[in-house]
Amino acid sequence: MDKKKYAELFVKAGGRVEPGDTVVLAADVHNAPLARMIVESAYEAGAIDVLVRWSDSVCTKMWFDKADDSVIGAFPDWQIKLFEHYDAKKTVYLTLLSEDPDMLGDADPDRIRKWMNSRSKALKQHSTNLISNKFRWSIIAAPSPEWAVKVFPGESPEEAVEKLWNAIAEAARVNANDPVAEWERHNRNFKKRSKVLNEKKFKSLKYKNSLGTDFIVELPKGHIWLGGSEKDVNGITFNPNIPTEEIFTLPHRFGANGRVVSSMPLAYNGKLIENFELTFKDGEAVSFKAEKNQDILESILDNDPGSRRLGEIALVPADSPITRMGILFYETLFDENASCHLALGKAYPSCLDGTQGLSEEELEKLGVNNSLLHVDFMIGTDDLSIIGVSEDGTEFTVFKDGMFTF
Ligand code: ZN
Ligand code: ZN
Repeated sequence: MDKKKYAELFVKAGGRVEPGDTVVLAADVHNAPLARMIVESAYEAGAIDVLVRWSDSVCTKMWFDKADDSVIGAFPDWQIKLFEHYDAKKTVYLTLLSEDPDMLGDADPDRIRKWMNSRSKALKQHSTNLISNKFRWSIIAAPSPEWAVKVFPGESPEEAVEKLWNAIAEAARVNANDPVAEWERHNRNFKKRSKVLNEKKFKSLKYKNSLGTDFIVELPKGHIWLGGSEKDVNGITFNPNIPTEEIFTLPHRFGANGRVVSSMPLAYNGKLIENFELTFKDGEAVSFKAEKNQDILESILDNDPGSRRLGEIALVPADSPITRMGILFYETLFDENASCHLALGKAYPSCLDGTQGLSEEELEKLGVNNSLLHVDFMIGTDDLSIIGVSEDGTEFTVFKDGMFTF
């Protein structure tokens, strides 16, 4: 992996940093060398200021284990102010992930939930700004030894890190001569397919495969299929996720019926929920079971009223580079691109026409689900079929044998 090229891709195609921008980079101390290259690329692109928000997964783990209960559910005011300060500027937010999937593995799930919910509530305005693209933002990943040995068990940490770098490079299309141009080509494909789906204006999608998924989902009127690059409120293109292979929209929050069976384990706060299924009625998951960690699945569903309903439908063809690698990354940024998926919880209002400036209540009336959570889970297989049904009942095969038909 050419790390300088990766840093440049992140800054130029990911966050699309332009002269005069302020950059806020979140990074773990494990990846300080790459973070410094990103900072350098950002200044080269004309950033006037770069703030690095350093974290250290070792200290974060200690905090979850040892910090007093009173601080766990009290997200600090100064951090809310930090985001208010930078949200008001021409800021580009860059996040360099370097997961340790087991970091919170033995922390008390109640404390994790308390912290996550208090964070979501405190940063609500920032999240709203983010999902409505008030500013540009982008996420990429870099290995930590803990993450790498989880993905490649049996390897030495050094070898595992090397292998994970290679997998990330392949997934992020960094090996191309000119990765920025490669991403432009990748984005043209997304736009071609999402245009077809948007013109069809489907009323519902019917899913079926041999694992037992047999499911119909209604799409709200005015839904928009998105994929690849997005535009900020000023019309500047950026790539929120590197990699990305999905084309997605939102379901109507009352419109899911039938059974969905997981096709990959779901990694959630250090635990793996395996071989699970959910049955939906009028949008709500009314029954569920899992062979492993069913209680974690239950805690997701019971988090808040919206976490039993769906917030995302995403299509990923079975020949995406990430699917072909056949690696479980234990990180949604990668794993969601290995398979068609759904998400429990919050929907992105940008997937519905005319939602700018609407309140949560108004959004819910239009069928947009709301929740403190957004949890992707994979249901795609190489025999999955998806049929789109139009308002007049006309059917169109969107997916056959796990692949787009167009
Ligand atoms: Zn997704
Ligand atoms: Zn998602």
